[in-house]
Amino acid sequence: MKPCYRGRFAPSPTGPLHFGSLVAAVGSYLVAITQKGEWHLRIEDLDPPRELPGATDAILRALDTFGFAWHGEVIYQSQRYPAYRAALEQLQKQGLTFPCHCTRKNLSASPIYSGHCRHQANSSVPHTTRLRARDEAPTIQFNDRLQGLQRQNIAEEVGDFIIQRADGLFAYQLAVVVDDAELGITEVVRGGDLLTVTGRQIYLQQQLNVTTPDYCHLPVVTNRAGDKLSKQTFAQPLDTDHPAPQLWYALLFLGQAPPAALRKDSLSEIWQWAKENWRIEAVPTHPSPAPFDRKSIEH
Ligand code: GLU
Ligand code: ZN
Repeated sequence: MKPCYRGRFAPSPTGPLHFGSLVAAVGSYLVAITQKGEWHLRIEDLDPPRELPGATDAILRALDTFGFAWHGEVIYQSQRYPAYRAALEQLQKQGLTFPCHCTRKNLSASPIYSGHCRHQANSSVPHTTRLRARDEAPTIQFNDRLQGLQRQNIAEEVGDFIIQRADGLFAYQLAVVVDDAELGITEVVRGGDLLTVTGRQIYLQQQLNVTTPDYCHLPVVTNRAGDKLSKQTFAQPLDTDHPAPQLWYALLFLGQAPPAALRKDSLSEIWQWAKENWRIEAVPTHPSPAPFDRKSIEH
């Protein structure tokens, strides 16, 4: 029997949700609920130094205001350290990890790790832990539902990558793989900016011997300058006083054709339309319509 569809939305509390986050939430939500699947919410509070106080609450409130309903309890990565530690130990036992003492300075020459510390024995001095990119491992291939066939050779194109930082914090790549596996996520629907790290995640799944979910990467939302909307590019937070026009615009961004008349309607009518008319085939692979602009959703 095919397992029930299970999707998720996994925001990081580094700031409030912006239009790019809304697009990822709407896309993953509609794919899940139109298949009568579950949609889980995971707060990726893995990196306390980068978190903004109050951001988690603001995210939960915004999702609620926009009319999202998630399945079960909210999952917090900050409470999952034992699971990450167990995964790390499993990799260590297989001889797949090594301590790395390289400094930022001696790493800067190439984006691909040189393998400098590969043969270092265990170390008690603070160090990052890297996962060995096995030279003999085959090229990772996956067929993204929207972006098509993707291939990446981890050893040649990425190199040994970090799974635990020198300050003891676990890397996003490790946490996301452990969590998606434990939740039994069947498909990851998320922003296209994460397409290039998916190969690493699949490689990790293979080393940990867990199932690889399907992947679907949505078009990236950019501003007029062509930068991805993010805290770094000063993306404006969602306006929770007027959710309807933003939800309407998120549907348009995802290639759907919500009737213009609905734009000023209530949230529930827009959601109703979206649930009845959602078509994944209509989602563009690249941003369309043109760059996101606050003006497009002004009420
Ligand atoms: N927490 C990540 C972000 O906010 C998303 C992770 C994921 O969907 O895999 O960009
Ligand atoms: Zn090193």
